[in-house]
This record gives sequence, C-alpha cells and structure tokens, in this order.
Amino acid sequence: MTNLELKKLFESQFDVVGIIHTKKYLDEAKKMGKDVPHVDYPTIVTVGLSYPFRTIKHTKTHLAPSFYTFGSDYHSVLKKRIEVVMSNLPYSYQLGVDNHPHNERLAAVLSGVGYFGKNQLIINKDLGTYMFLGIVFIDVKLDQEFILEVTDDCGTCRKCIDACPPSALYEGGFDINKCMSHFNQTKRVLTDQEIDLNYSLFGCDICQMVCPKNINVKTNIHPEFELSGKEMVSIVDLFTDSEKVFKEKYNDMSYLWKGKTILMRNALTILNKQKNSQYNDLIEKSILKHQMPWYQETATKILGNLKKNKI
Ligand code: SF4
Ligand code: SF4
Repeated sequence: MTNLELKKLFESQFDVVGIIHTKKYLDEAKKMGKDVPHVDYPTIVTVGLSYPFRTIKHTKTHLAPSFYTFGSDYHSVLKKRIEVVMSNLPYSYQLGVDNHPHNERLAAVLSGVGYFGKNQLIINKDLGTYMFLGIVFIDVKLDQEFILEVTDDCGTCRKCIDACPPSALYEGGFDINKCMSHFNQTKRVLTDQEIDLNYSLFGCDICQMVCPKNINVKTNIHPEFELSGKEMVSIVDLFTDSEKVFKEKYNDMSYLWKGKTILMRNALTILNKQKNSQYNDLIEKSILKHQMPWYQETATKILGNLKKNKI
C-alpha cells in the first residue's frame, strides 16, 4: 500500500484528510509546552467530517442543545468511519476523537486541515468550522506527507470576540472558565451571571454562527447526521425519567455524555429566561431526589425566581 492509497482510503470516508510524520507533531507539541503522550507509531492522519448548520428554537415544552449534537453522536460516527478504513489495512493503529490526551487541533494545523481561529476552532477553507476532527496514529512508515495548503487566517476580524456573551475570547487567547460551552458541561453551581447568560441545553454556538468563514461553506449532510427526532429534549422527560430510561430514550445523542442532571440544571436556566413556572412542582421534587449539591443549589435559586414570577 502506497501513502497515496492510504490517503485515498481515508478520503473515501472523510471530507478532509491530512497526513504527517508523528515526530513533527510530537516535536511541535514539546516546543509549545503541550503535554501529550509519546506515540511510537510513525504516522498521524487527521480527518475532518462536516456537519450542517441547523437551528431549532426552544419551546415551552422542549429544549434544544447546540446543533453539533444533532444526529448520531459524532464520537461513534468518526470512530466507526476510521475503523472501516483501518479494517482494510494490516497496520496497528490508535485513534482519538475529541476526548483523549492528544491535541487534535495541533495535528489539524500541522497537516493543513485548517488554521486555528480566534474562536479557538479549526477553520477549513471549504467547511469553515462546521467539521468534527479525529486523529489516527498508524504503524506505517511515511515516504511522503500530505499537507493541505492553508492560505487564510482571521486577519483583523474580531466578530467572535465581540459576540461572545461572557467575554471568554480575546485577541490571542481564551478563558475557558468563562466559556458557556465549558461551564454548561461542568458539574458545578452556576453563578447568577452564568444563569442569566446560559441560553442552551448543552454547548454554545455563538462564535461559530457569527464567523464570516462559515458563510457559503459546503454543506455535506452525512447520513449519520440526519435529524433523528431526538434533538429536542422534553422537559417532562428530563425531570421525571430515571437516568437509565432517559439514556435509552435519547440513545446515541452526544449531549448525553455528562449525564442527565447537568441537562436538568441547564434546562432550569432556560425556564428562568422563559419565566416558565409550569414545571415548578417537578423541579421541587428533583431537588429532593438529586442529592448533588451543585444541582440542588442552582435549582433552589432558580426555583425561587420562578416562584416569584408565578401569578
Ligand atoms: S462557545 Fe460561546 S461562550 Fe464559548 S467562546 Fe464561543 S461564543 Fe464564547
Ligand atoms: S469570527 Fe472572525 S476572528 Fe472569529 S474565528 Fe471567525 S474569522 Fe476569525
């Protein structure tokens, strides 16, 4: 198998493919002071799979997460596609999609899959930021690297910085602790300001939606990312189903990865915005049932607000 054939096999499953020597990635990570584990496999393939931009609005009965969660869980989608490619090859490999100790954004930049935008996302010339990334270390020697050409950058644009509600982005950096997408996926008490800011059941799309690099991008809707009907989450299900029943009902949705209670807490911030007090009895019961101080404290605070709003 030539390196070119290897690339073509990956291209049969992915929209963007870059291939470099693992050494280049490890050396660069070291130079940048990034702590990544050593890998002996000499080749690293970075893949990108596009997903479409779609929005769904909350209603008084159902709430929507960030649109990157629509369709099947991208972790398993990318993993399966990588496994399809590797099942045709006699090489050992190690793959990573999102939750792993490697730095896939660094690999993506080094292989030309995109450039690192001020919104902290990889921006590809054809797909913008609407792509999931994965990496594969392969035990095969590389005669030739396949680095895509990147000629673009953010330039003087700062739309994402100006649009970020908690001011998590700034020129040359990012404060992850302020980021909504980070705090609404973290099991902790939310501050009053975070309760007011949070608008999503899970994640945040603002710095992607305002980005001019996402205008007129190619939209490939891969079959796995067709809407599954589980994008909108029922508020009654959230507050009445057991964790097990809820996970069975909303099976294969990536917003499930931190469990149901974190979605309940985020849902409360949206009910607070909607001044929607029709679920107060369910919230009250949930505070007694879910013995997690970070949930109970936030829920008690919001229930107090909702009770004040009730006519
Ligand atoms: S995801 Fe939202 S909160 Fe986080 S940096 Fe982007 S706009 Fe700001
Ligand atoms: S909004 Fe502008 S500054 Fe932000 S990532 Fe997109 S191009 Fe770069």
